[in-house]
Amino acid sequence: MTDNAVTAHTAPTSITLLGTGTMGTALARAWLAAGHAVTVWNRTPARAEALAAEGATVAASAAAAVAANRLVIVCLLDDASVGEALEGADLTGRDIVNLTTGTPAEGRARAAWAEERGARFADGGIMAVPPMIGDPASGAFVFYSGSAELVEEHRATLAVPAGVNFVGRDAGFAALHDVALLSGMYGMLGGVAHAFALIRGQDIAPKELAPLLQGWLNAMSSLVHVAAERLESGDFTTDVVSSLAMQAGGIGTFTRTAEEMGVSTELLTPYFDLMRRRVESGHGDEDNAGVIDLLRVRGA
Ligand code: NDP
Repeated sequence: MTDNAVTAHTAPTSITLLGTGTMGTALARAWLAAGHAVTVWNRTPARAEALAAEGATVAASAAAAVAANRLVIVCLLDDASVGEALEGADLTGRDIVNLTTGTPAEGRARAAWAEERGARFADGGIMAVPPMIGDPASGAFVFYSGSAELVEEHRATLAVPAGVNFVGRDAGFAALHDVALLSGMYGMLGGVAHAFALIRGQDIAPKELAPLLQGWLNAMSSLVHVAAERLESGDFTTDVVSSLAMQAGGIGTFTRTAEEMGVSTELLTPYFDLMRRRVESGHGDEDNAGVIDLLRVRGA
C-alpha cells in the first residue's frame, strides 16, 4: 500500500451529528478538532449555528443532516426525541450510533426500528461528562452495543471523543452497563452524603474527612469482585469475613449515631432493611452479596 493510499484510507470520516446540546456540542468539538467534517442539526438552530464558526456545516433539517453522511451520531435528550427527530429521515444504508441515554428496552426497540428502515444501529452509553470528551487522559469512554460490524468499521472515528467499549450484540447492553455503573455511583454518593451530614456542625472539616472517606471507599471497592465471584459460583458462605448476622447486629450503632448527630437515616435504612430480611430468612452466615437476589422482583 502506498503512503497516499494509507492517507486516503485513514482520512477522517465525514459525520453527521444530531443534537448539539451540552454533550452534543462537546462531541462535535472533539471531532472537528480531529479534522472530521461534521454536519450538525439541532431542533433549536441557534445552538447548532454556534458550531459553524468552528467549521461545522449546519443542516436545515434532521432529514438533510442524515442524508449528508453515512455515519450518523445521535445525541438527544431521550429516546422519544430520537424518534421525533428521525421520523422523516431516510435511514437506508445509514450507520446510526445513538448516544442518547435510554433504557435497555428502548435500545433494543430503537435498533429494530432503525434496522426495519434499512440502517445498521449501535446504541451507546456515555460514561463521561462533557469536559472529559476529547481528552484521552480523562478516562472518558462509551459503552457500545448492537452492530459489532458498525462499531468495528467506525472504531477510529468513535474513539475520537471517548474510548470505545463494545459490550455485545444485544442493543440493550450499552444502556444496561451504563445504568448499572451509574446506579453503583448513586449508591456511593448516597453514602458520601450521609457521611458528610454526620460531621456537619462538628469540629471536623469536610476537607479533613474527604481523603479518609475516599481512601476507605477505594479500599472497599474490591468487594465488587467478591460479590461477582459469589454470584458466579453460587457459594455465598465460604470464607465470609464479615457475616450479615454480625453486620445486622451493628445496625443500631449507625441509627443511634445518626440520631445523636441529628441526621436522617433515610439513605441508610433501605439497605439495612434488606440486610435484616436476609438474616431473618436464615442467611446470616453470608456476606453482603446475599442481599443482591433479594432485590430481584422478577425472574431473569
Ligand atoms: P441538553 O439538555 O444540553 O441537550 C438536549 C438535546 O436534545 C438538545 O439538542 C435538544 O434540542 C434536544 N432535544 C430535546 N428534545 C427534543 C425533541 N423532542 N426533538 C429533537 N431534539 C430534542 O442535554 P445533553 O446534551 O447534556 O445530553 C444529551 C444526551 O447525552 C442525553 O441523553 C444525556 O443523558 C446524555 N449524557 C449527557 C451527559 C452530561 O453530563 N451532559 C453525560 C452522559 C450522557 P434543543 O436545543 O432544541 O432543546
